Amino acid sequence: MSPVGNRWIVSRGPTRPKCTGRHRPWHPWHPWHDALVGLLTNSPVSDDFTGTRLGVCNLCEAICGIELTIERGTVTLIKGNQDDPLSRGYICPKGVSMADVYTDPDRLTRPIRRITDDAGRTEWVEMGWEEAYDLVADRLAATVTEHGRDAIGVYLGNPSAHSLGSQTHGTALVKSLRTRNRFSASSVDQIPHQFVAWQLYGHQLMLPVPDIDRTSYFLVFGANPMASNGSLMTVPGFPTRLRALKARGGQMVVLDPRRTETAKVATAHHFVRPGSDAVVLLAMLHVLFAEGLTTPAPYVDHVEHLRDLVAPFTPELAEPHSGVGADVIRQLARDFAAAESAAAYGRVGVSTHGFGSVCQWAIQCLNLLTGNFDRAGGVMFPEPAIDIVGRRIIGQGHFDAWRSRVRESPEFAGELPVSVLREEIETPGTGQVRAMVTMAGNPVLSTPDGKSLARALAGLDFMVSVDIYLNETTRHADVILPPTSALERDQYDLVFHNFAVRNTARFTPAVFAKDKDQRHDWQIFGALAARLQSRLGVKLPLKSRLISWARMTASPAVVVTGLLATGRKVSMRQLRAHPEGVDLGPLQPTMPARLQTKDKRIDLTPPLLAGDLERLHASLEQTLTPSSDQLLLIGRRHQQDCNSWLHNTARLTRGRPRHHLLMHPDDLAERGLSDGGRVTVTSRVGSVEVEATGVEDMMPGVVSLPHGYGHQVDGIRLGHASQVAGVSINDLTDPEVLDVSGNAAFNGVPVTVSAAQ
Ligand code: SF4
Repeated sequence: MSPVGNRWIVSRGPTRPKCTGRHRPWHPWHPWHDALVGLLTNSPVSDDFTGTRLGVCNLCEAICGIELTIERGTVTLIKGNQDDPLSRGYICPKGVSMADVYTDPDRLTRPIRRITDDAGRTEWVEMGWEEAYDLVADRLAATVTEHGRDAIGVYLGNPSAHSLGSQTHGTALVKSLRTRNRFSASSVDQIPHQFVAWQLYGHQLMLPVPDIDRTSYFLVFGANPMASNGSLMTVPGFPTRLRALKARGGQMVVLDPRRTETAKVATAHHFVRPGSDAVVLLAMLHVLFAEGLTTPAPYVDHVEHLRDLVAPFTPELAEPHSGVGADVIRQLARDFAAAESAAAYGRVGVSTHGFGSVCQWAIQCLNLLTGNFDRAGGVMFPEPAIDIVGRRIIGQGHFDAWRSRVRESPEFAGELPVSVLREEIETPGTGQVRAMVTMAGNPVLSTPDGKSLARALAGLDFMVSVDIYLNETTRHADVILPPTSALERDQYDLVFHNFAVRNTARFTPAVFAKDKDQRHDWQIFGALAARLQSRLGVKLPLKSRLISWARMTASPAVVVTGLLATGRKVSMRQLRAHPEGVDLGPLQPTMPARLQTKDKRIDLTPPLLAGDLERLHASLEQTLTPSSDQLLLIGRRHQQDCNSWLHNTARLTRGRPRHHLLMHPDDLAERGLSDGGRVTVTSRVGSVEVEATGVEDMMPGVVSLPHGYGHQVDGIRLGHASQVAGVSINDLTDPEVLDVSGNAAFNGVPVTVSAAQ
């Protein structure tokens, strides 16, 4: 290991001499040595600590390194850590507010139980952990005994991916429940990416990442990294990286129905009608073939078949559907193919509509056909210190191993689309969901037709939520078990190093010690798993019992120490010595050796994706004949929002209101609506009232509401307070419209807008 500037570079390959088998576990060369060190060292600050500590912001996928200034045990300042090899000092407004969650008076720290009296009045009362565990285990076990395992539904929210304990222990608890009714925020977000990766590269999380620091042409569909700092592309400090891209003569071109923060700083921006990106992308592939611009790698199969499939998707066909000129589409394809290096990337805007998987497939094909796959400046696969893909720590994925009971929607990777959850709860019969376990999620605000889902949750026999807030979803729980917050627990990002634009590793010990009456999420999951196993009388062989016990009682830090030791790229000892993180270097070509397909080849036209083109053809007729007063609704995210939470944080909610419906001034005028006036927005599913603002940034015919708003306070005080006005976009989104992968369609929802009465 050698210092370079103010960073530490760790060389590739083994980081210490190989143990010959003669050494004891406490010898530094023994593979278990680091596990022992990891067990023994952890030092949260004391109550009267004054000084600085390094930490990590895990509010979003950018995983920025932070530096906390602490005075007598109180955080007085948070800034970006300049020495972090990935985030390099960057921090966004949310990161500055990390400690607000830790000190939030609304945050729960003890289990609470909902008690409803005969008059229907609800009261929440605190209870002890042992009593709470017993109650939850009793009720879940009784549900299984009476109605079977599928009677328990599970929902994992987005923060589950950001907590090490959830990754190491939460998934083990979910697996032990052995229910087919598993749901998560993935099916309202990213399943198309996983669905395509599984078919092309053999693993659901084998997602190529744009090599943003070296590319010369960055093509962006439906993504806003200036606000998000990347998603399924961990790219902290995107604004700085973009400035560097432009300084070296590179370009960023954006297609989006809104002139987003990213579109505003792009070299070029083109409006594209919501839901039509697929035809634009396929038309670009058509141009590549028609003009002989394809240079696929030798391990890519069925190129000719793809040529035939995209033959009907001419730029002229795409223009009237998408609003993007045929000449623009041709030029985009030519520029992409001609660039010194290029990377195509698409995110929420193109994943969360009815053809999200076709979009993600076409984006992969753009990179694959132009020689920009697995090359510097193109798209590449990170090689994290803990390789969750290559080591199969997360399974490869599978499709249609079972189906939902009511609508017969196929599962993907063990999960059913969350859009079917409401009907699985409300429809009687064998396999009906009668009890729910939610973990760090608020599906009432974040999944389609949230109002109806709230009604369904209210009718459950039992519900338990592992969550730090009482919110629109957890208010329906019988018991809430609150884990510690981010600054109180150890963190290693098992997931997001896998999507990062540079190979780095960082372990962050807890900054603050937990109170003796608090529990970490992994402790909650372990306690529930053990009690459920005993109540359900699960008889396992002694060896399996010991493995299960060890897995659930070892702390996440111990698990990570072991995984690092066996990965042999960097050790826990090194990470503890360098809490700013260690640099493992830029992304490198790894293909085809790292492909997870059986034959180490890529099939460009997998049947599930190629087969969906028929549905796309059929849909094109409808998109050309919208009713005259119809508009298309899209979502949006702000840098100060974190999905449905942080809306009770004063620091992040001041300033101009962000909840308005955005629409083009011409669309306002056509309907006789005034700028700032209240309007009624109506879809097939529901209706909401909200203020409308006219902005030229919207494509005419398109309106936008932010995701995660619409906090409700009717009747009870929600800890997750309603300091932010607004409505839930998911009272308008339609659970019947799904991508072939099962992902929900939030973008391109047909709505009408009229003056509120
Ligand atoms: S971009 Fe902001 S919210 Fe995301 S990790 Fe960095 S500081 Fe945190």
